Amino acid sequence: MASTAQLTFVGAAGTVTGSKHLLSIGGRHIFIDCGLFQGVVDVRALNDIPLPVPAGEIDAVVITHGHLDHIGYLPKLVRDGFRGPVFCTPPTQGLMQIVLDDAAHLQRELHARGFNHERPHAPPPYYDESDVVSAMGLVRPVPLNAPFDTAGVATATYHNAGHIIGSAFVALEFEGKRVVFSGDLGRYGRPLLYDPDPIGAAEIIVSESTYGDRIHPPDPSEELRATLATAMVLGGPIVIPAFAVERSQDILLAIAQIQARDERIASLPIHLDSPMAAKVDALFEAFPDAHKPIPRDRAGAPFGVQNFSLEVTTEESKALNALAGPAVVVSASGMASGGRILHHLHNHLADPNATIVFPGYQSVGTLGFLLTHGAHSVRIFGDTLPVLATIVHLSGFSAHADQNDLKRWFATCRSKPHLYAVHGEVESATAVATLAGAAFGWPAEVARRGMTVDL
Ligand SMILES: [Zn+2]
Repeated sequence: MASTAQLTFVGAAGTVTGSKHLLSIGGRHIFIDCGLFQGVVDVRALNDIPLPVPAGEIDAVVITHGHLDHIGYLPKLVRDGFRGPVFCTPPTQGLMQIVLDDAAHLQRELHARGFNHERPHAPPPYYDESDVVSAMGLVRPVPLNAPFDTAGVATATYHNAGHIIGSAFVALEFEGKRVVFSGDLGRYGRPLLYDPDPIGAAEIIVSESTYGDRIHPPDPSEELRATLATAMVLGGPIVIPAFAVERSQDILLAIAQIQARDERIASLPIHLDSPMAAKVDALFEAFPDAHKPIPRDRAGAPFGVQNFSLEVTTEESKALNALAGPAVVVSASGMASGGRILHHLHNHLADPNATIVFPGYQSVGTLGFLLTHGAHSVRIFGDTLPVLATIVHLSGFSAHADQNDLKRWFATCRSKPHLYAVHGEVESATAVATLAGAAFGWPAEVARRGMTVDL
């Protein structure tokens, strides 16, 4: 039988955001992921480009995990006429609700105050809370390893990806082929999540490549311990911008483990100033099978952190403004592009005794990028602030596979597939395509946005 299937790379091809892959089989259209383009103005503008197929003609959406760059376009797709089912794992359904609620709220807030003072008028939000309600109404949760019909033309199965809670890679079977989309792949041997599942056999692999040209440092917690110890000597507050989803939990667990073996750091007050991170913590509680067991201290504090307090209300958050001595504040967003972290940076950037610790990737155009690349002064809330605090950038807490992890995962493939590298800058995507060819002899190429291939 001649193939009727085609794959079009709509997003996360040549960029790391806007993940959207259109699989067309016998006239039916399936989106694998439905992410928002994020970052600098040029990249965000890609959200306004019409899709290759009108939203109303998409038959189904298959979501790999709950990060905004994989789900953030969904309410817009619904607003534009999509009415089909949205498949995801049960923990991802919970995470989607948290992340999309926050996205709708943030878009309205940014519009109201003009995109971080970046320009006088921000474009209207892509969607609002009512579109999120409509999108969530289309969600059909499916557990890992349970095959499900997709648009009547393919059978899909989720397998653990080990990237964030609920994350999966997905295999679609149709016309005698098995096509695997990695989504975002996690790392092997992480404290909270199980290792990625083996690939099995596949004719096509669409693989992420975020850190395809890099190797992560082996033990991020030792780097964090040394940073905290030095910061305590300086004597000022320690501010940690961290993504509410997963990174905050990774940091809390690492701090708890450091406290268990370091008495001085055990005495340090730890504040989690993030209502969203608290909701994600609750999701870990709700899905105990979706992660490794979480240690607790005798008082029941999450992840076993000592001297822990959670700030949920605005009043609780504002009370942290008075913070002077050594204490840790973990808050979002992780790239300091919005949220409560801006208040803490506004308060402490000009304090030579303070330490700011960035434990994640900082994309170009964000405040986090400026601070981790040597800015002497920055503007927050209209004020120009000298950067006198110590800035530390830790790279070991990434939730993405590095080159070694990708190689280890590729080695679990029992066939010789054609690989397309997505979700990476050109250098890292090229490195992954080269790796697939050199180490495994697979035909491999870097996907470009707008490119369509016959399967
Ligand atoms: Zn992700």
